[in-house]
Amino acid sequence: MLGTGLVKGFVETARNFVGTYTDSEARLVTVEYPEERLPAKEATRQFPFLVYDGADAQAGLRCVACQICEKECPPQCIYIVKSKDKKPDYKKQLQFYPATFDIDISVCMSCQICVEVCPFEAIKMDTEFELSNADRYGGLLLNKQQLAKDNEHYRRIHPKDAADSDAALAAELAKAEAKTKAKADAETKAKAEAEAEARVKAAGAPLAAEGGKTAA
Ligand code: SF4
Ligand code: SF4
Repeated sequence: MLGTGLVKGFVETARNFVGTYTDSEARLVTVEYPEERLPAKEATRQFPFLVYDGADAQAGLRCVACQICEKECPPQCIYIVKSKDKKPDYKKQLQFYPATFDIDISVCMSCQICVEVCPFEAIKMDTEFELSNADRYGGLLLNKQQLAKDNEHYRRIHPKDAADSDAALAAELAKAEAKTKAKADAETKAKAEAEAEARVKAAGAPLAAEGGKTAA
């Protein structure tokens, strides 16, 4: 019948209007931003941040300045300068670190490719969106101090991904520890064998000398 859709629309609008005042979960309730805000969903992503472990944001950065993300970033908004020296990573292996790591978030398109290509669980997508700034250029160019956020932050904003990331790093650490232990065991065994051989030689030398005298 002509006008049925219109009536249905009015009924729905009225239902939502009344529902808003009765605070029903089923109705759309306006969130009074910025005083109120909805928690970000697990899949929310805005701009990347650099993950660090431990208490020192710079010493604990997972990034080893391999520059893969810099090369793969489609709009080329990552700028990295590799350090000249090295620092120990979470596996106590010496690695380079980024002397400079900048992201121009006025150019970043939040594609997450940098996160996908990073082999070190070092860069992740943040949910922070309140980044408006009066300085259009410098204010939106984030340096490594501004980009560094601890692993607790990652666990808070993306609990499922962070758990997977923690598990991957724990597996890598276990593998590295097993390799170190196997190497140490092999070295200990080789040393013990060399010492035993030296002892045998030392014990055999006087006998050989005595044998020589008898023959004379
Ligand atoms: S999210 Fe995409 S555009 Fe932004 S820094 Fe990463 S790779 Fe570049
Ligand atoms: S964030 Fe990851 S991919 Fe980018 S330079 Fe650091 S370790 Fe390499």
